[in-house]
Amino acid sequence: MSEQPKPDSPVAAKVFPSPNHGERLGADGMPRRPDMLVLHYTGMPDAGEALQRLCNPAAEVSAHYFVFENGHVLQLVPEGRRAWHAGKASWAGERDINSASIGIEIANPGHDGGLPPYPAAQIAAVIALSRDIVSRWSIPADRVLGHSDVAPERKLDPGELFPWEELNRAGIGHFVRPAPVRGGRFLSPGESGQPVEALQAMLAMYGYDIALTGRYDEATTAVVAAFQRHFRPERIDGIADASTITTLRDLIAGRPAATVIV
Ligand SMILES: [Zn+2]
Repeated sequence: MSEQPKPDSPVAAKVFPSPNHGERLGADGMPRRPDMLVLHYTGMPDAGEALQRLCNPAAEVSAHYFVFENGHVLQLVPEGRRAWHAGKASWAGERDINSASIGIEIANPGHDGGLPPYPAAQIAAVIALSRDIVSRWSIPADRVLGHSDVAPERKLDPGELFPWEELNRAGIGHFVRPAPVRGGRFLSPGESGQPVEALQAMLAMYGYDIALTGRYDEATTAVVAAFQRHFRPERIDGIADASTITTLRDLIAGRPAATVIV
């Protein structure tokens, strides 16, 4: 009789293994430990089907943990292994986000399914699980991210209804109170010049993968929208209004000391 492996986290009820994983490797080809947490929604109408897909070898996708709507948590991939959740992605100069991170899939139909709110029991489980993971791996607050942060041109998850502020109040992730949305000067798609380059530099300083072109191009619009989705969810339009820029500036200024770039 084979013995069921124990989950890495006590928050997970049990292991429900996915074969979709590999070895974590750093840029130097040496084994790498995770120092990032990436949160996802499944984006499928049915949680059971989403779970099946994450365990299907043909799908070639997975995550370390799966959180049902009722807060039930399964572990699919051991934390020491590289799960296949982020795809083509980048953050703070790193491109192999799967090697760098632990991934949590949160069952939710997503934007295609009308973006239903996350139930309280599910968020409580995400908070308990995230708290356990970030404390055991010493993951910095500003490296708890959404899939949309690390793949802004491809992904919208976990979406603007994900309660990042509530996680922050529970001690998980980096967040500052967003500056109020009101009028004033703003930068928008199509513009170019030094102020656009300064905006791109601030987004890059925070970690977003963005080229300093000085042109407010499609990539810039996608990154600004991703930033808003996480940090200023009241309005997601890809336009860098005063509230967006002030919120970004406050985030950079309020960054946890251990991770300030010097
Ligand atoms: Zn995702």
